[in-house]
Amino acid sequence: MSEHLTPPQAVLIGNLWQPGKGATLTVTNPADESVLATLAAADAAQVDAAVQTARQALPGWRRLPARQRGELLRAIASGVDAARERLIALQMRNNGKPRLEAELDVQDVIGTFDYYAGLCLQSDGQQPAAVALPDEGFRASVRREPVGVAALIVPWNFPMVTTAWKLAPALAAGCSVVLKPSELTPLAEIELLRIIHAAGLPAGVVNLVCGGGDVGAALSSHPGVDKISFTGSNKSGQAVMRTAAERMARVSLELGGKSALIVLDDAELEQAVQLAVGGAFFNAGQMCSATARILVAQPLYAEFVARFAAAAANLRIGGSEADIGPLISAAQYQRVQGYITQGLADGGRLLAGGQRPAQHARGYFLQPTVFAELPAHSRLWREEIFGPVACVRAFADDAEAVALANDSDFGLVATVVGGDAARAERLAAELEVGLAWVNSPQLIFPQTAWGGCKQSGLGRELGPWGLAAFQEIRHVVTAI
Ligand code: NAD
Repeated sequence: MSEHLTPPQAVLIGNLWQPGKGATLTVTNPADESVLATLAAADAAQVDAAVQTARQALPGWRRLPARQRGELLRAIASGVDAARERLIALQMRNNGKPRLEAELDVQDVIGTFDYYAGLCLQSDGQQPAAVALPDEGFRASVRREPVGVAALIVPWNFPMVTTAWKLAPALAAGCSVVLKPSELTPLAEIELLRIIHAAGLPAGVVNLVCGGGDVGAALSSHPGVDKISFTGSNKSGQAVMRTAAERMARVSLELGGKSALIVLDDAELEQAVQLAVGGAFFNAGQMCSATARILVAQPLYAEFVARFAAAAANLRIGGSEADIGPLISAAQYQRVQGYITQGLADGGRLLAGGQRPAQHARGYFLQPTVFAELPAHSRLWREEIFGPVACVRAFADDAEAVALANDSDFGLVATVVGGDAARAERLAAELEVGLAWVNSPQLIFPQTAWGGCKQSGLGRELGPWGLAAFQEIRHVVTAI
């Protein structure tokens, strides 16, 4: 059982933490359905005040030498490190994550702030940069300027991580921000903002408004917002993009996925099974990058399916040392159950799971679920489920594997498993995705870009590309 936390104040405007004046948010622990906290969301006036405050803070923050911004980002990384245990505990309670998953999240936040601190420290003094021209009568220079006030809107599956991927580069670029966490998982985010605030940022550079989709919509449609960096569902992403189009606000969108894991005929079978388990069931499958379409070379298919289904059935469910935690909410639980019912109706063969685990009468737990023989038109095969449900099918040759993997509206990530890494890399290069792993778990380094092709979104986060997403390029050309 979880006790009711003292309701944290859910709005930060400038230096002032304050209670929201909008709708009530009930924050629960998905592992036991208990209420963790009751918060008041921001109302429209508070969203407006947060944006105005960010605007006022922008000129001072953007003028600050990059080195000083870098030092503040490094102080944030140290502050998060010092608060590691507190953040892990909050993440475990609000998301129901096993301890290892919560630890990895906090480590990722530290790594991301550290990385962008490094970019800031390196970039100091490099502006403006000369641009070589073919005509000696002219000289040109280029500057990278912050895009302005950025609205950062994030989902619930990796709270703090998704926030860090936006907040660290936005601050590095010299943007001031208003953050809106998911209404389902604000607790670790509020604590993270307290740590960031304590690192000594000038007042108004980072503001926070908690609330639901209405607060997100009010923020993204605010004329004082120059850039919206959004992670979430395609439906909400489309709404954000429509709103942004009205005033040509900049947008970055990290949306859904239905990614493939390809097991080539020379793959080492046990490695393939382990990578498939991680790709489908980490974070209870609530990953935009879940490799939930598993394609296996025909000669390995029968043995792979048997071992993968057995591995799924053996995963420990629930608790701090578990392999797999609960889904985030009752609504998500019902949504995933609906897909399982649909998969059965479509003629899929259920090889593992599909039920609530007997030992968990409470909490939104679902057994890791494996389907085979689903038709390619089935919704379970084509749509993002965002739960612990994987589908397996066989392919005849590499060309068919590529064709099946690319036959998707999405294009976020892929994994290729094969004994000959060079061959696997060649195949990976054929996949229409933002990031492909070869013989690797889903490691995400701050140095490599994150984002997808097709309906998986627009733009890239992390690396120098994540920084560029919060910058405008400005040239000066002078006749001499
Ligand atoms: P969601 O779209 O319901 O909500 C995401 C965020 O947007 C929340 O903070 C929500 O309050 C806000 N929001 C909702 N409607 C809005 C609107 N009209 N305008 C502005 N903001 C609005 O998504 P979710 O259910 O929280 O998250 C799950 C989805 O996120 C999945 O589809 C998943 O694929 C996607 N996701 C993508 C990535 C990625 O990097 N590509 C990462 C994590 C999650």
